[in-house]
Amino acid sequence: MDNMVTLEKDLNNMRGYYETEITKKCSWRESQLKGLRCFLIEKEEQILKALMQDLGKHQVEAFRDEVGTVMKSLNFALTHLKYWMSAKKAKLPQLALLTSAEIVPEPLGLVLIISSWNFPFGLSLEPLIGAIAAGNTVVLKPSELSPACSSLLAYGISTYLDKEAIKVVQAGALESEKLLHQKWDKIFFTGSARVGRIVMSAAVKHLTPVTLELGGKCPAVVDSLSSSFDIAVTVKRIMVGKFGACAGQACIAIDYVIVENGYSSTLVELMKVWIKKMFGENPKNSNTISRIVNKQHFLRLKNLLTDPEVKKSVVYGGSMDEENLFIEPTILVDPPLEAAIMTDEIFGPLLPIITVEKIEDSIKLIRSRPKPLALYVFTKNQTLQKRMISETSSGSVTFNDAILQYAADSLPFGGVGESGFGKYHGKFSFDTFSHEKGIVRRSFLTDFWYRYPPWTLNKFQL
Ligand code: NAD
Repeated sequence: MDNMVTLEKDLNNMRGYYETEITKKCSWRESQLKGLRCFLIEKEEQILKALMQDLGKHQVEAFRDEVGTVMKSLNFALTHLKYWMSAKKAKLPQLALLTSAEIVPEPLGLVLIISSWNFPFGLSLEPLIGAIAAGNTVVLKPSELSPACSSLLAYGISTYLDKEAIKVVQAGALESEKLLHQKWDKIFFTGSARVGRIVMSAAVKHLTPVTLELGGKCPAVVDSLSSSFDIAVTVKRIMVGKFGACAGQACIAIDYVIVENGYSSTLVELMKVWIKKMFGENPKNSNTISRIVNKQHFLRLKNLLTDPEVKKSVVYGGSMDEENLFIEPTILVDPPLEAAIMTDEIFGPLLPIITVEKIEDSIKLIRSRPKPLALYVFTKNQTLQKRMISETSSGSVTFNDAILQYAADSLPFGGVGESGFGKYHGKFSFDTFSHEKGIVRRSFLTDFWYRYPPWTLNKFQL
């Protein structure tokens, strides 16, 4: 960002462009979504390279989580755009004779999207799809911690999209805070609760609506009464839902596992087998596990393990290589619940297993902690499933898998409580960046005299 004067001038120009009504046209929205699709197709190789450079993300994982998922969302938006934009009839009470009502979505105007580094394309482009589909002008601020991806995004968006309407600002925390103090019609933020609070405070000034996509500790509950086949699948899915999602640096990655105490040693043994199958005997040499994003996060994760009580609970892994920002997939059993590893979001390849006497006790444990973004429960037990849904609160609940819910266009994606508020994906993204305007059309007929002053009781004693 050159300076504030340039920024303010740019934003004024973007507001002026919005006023021309170009971005409201269906043809404009379609052309931008198609432009984004071209960017993903034509620059796929560079995108995968940038993800390897910034995060050491394997190209298969990178394609699955970023290019492939975003393409799916783009296609979904293009298929449904006209319907989303259309006015929807609303019902009125029968008393409202000769009156009709409808809901018309309108864009909000100039919106700001601030995203995180762990899925630099996915977390920038998913909300951008919604903002474009809804007809807004957009400033996107990707993370400075994934610089190769951010500069490719800046290049791609200025090359493939309408640069009068959509801009990428590459900025660190300080400049980002300056951005927040501008007037926006919506701020969509993905990141930590700490910065989420800064975003909300800044939004107060102009009463700007915000969506906060934050993080937290997502538990996975494992029911040991499952069959050995189901347990084998469970372990594989937990391993990929932790270590195979940017090495656990994902807001919906499994943070910790809850299991009955009599079963934890069996579970650990199975996990060891699958870690070796997935990442080899020496995971440091594996290119299928992402690296820690930078030294600061590496040291943060290292510190989580330095508490002697926590160290004692490590039953597998624990090796680290600071130079290569590598942390081995690590399993811990029953670290103290008050230690930082169990109070802070881990966001890395450390997997605590917390034991409870009966699996139903996991409900109490989950309820005693901040509401997670995602809850995973591996069980076929219908009663337990029902209790998990009704007795706990989380952004989403997934039974017998992890991460999968992120790809469902038909489901709202978002948090509750400290994991954030607001939702997106599919139609929810369109709604997040739209104002739903209520329209009422009355006839001049059926004009009853008693609805006008002067009020007299007689009117109601007909
Ligand atoms: P972060 O809050 O440090 O940064 C997020 C964004 O905010 C970045 O673009 C950063 O440049 C910007 N930023 C930082 N300080 C700022 C300030 N003072 N003012 C304005 N902007 C500022 O988070 P992060 O390290 O990028 O991401 C990790 C966190 O994000 C985790 O808590 C994770 O769970 C959460 N997350 C949530 C989701 C989700 O979809 N809910 C997805 C990914 C990550």
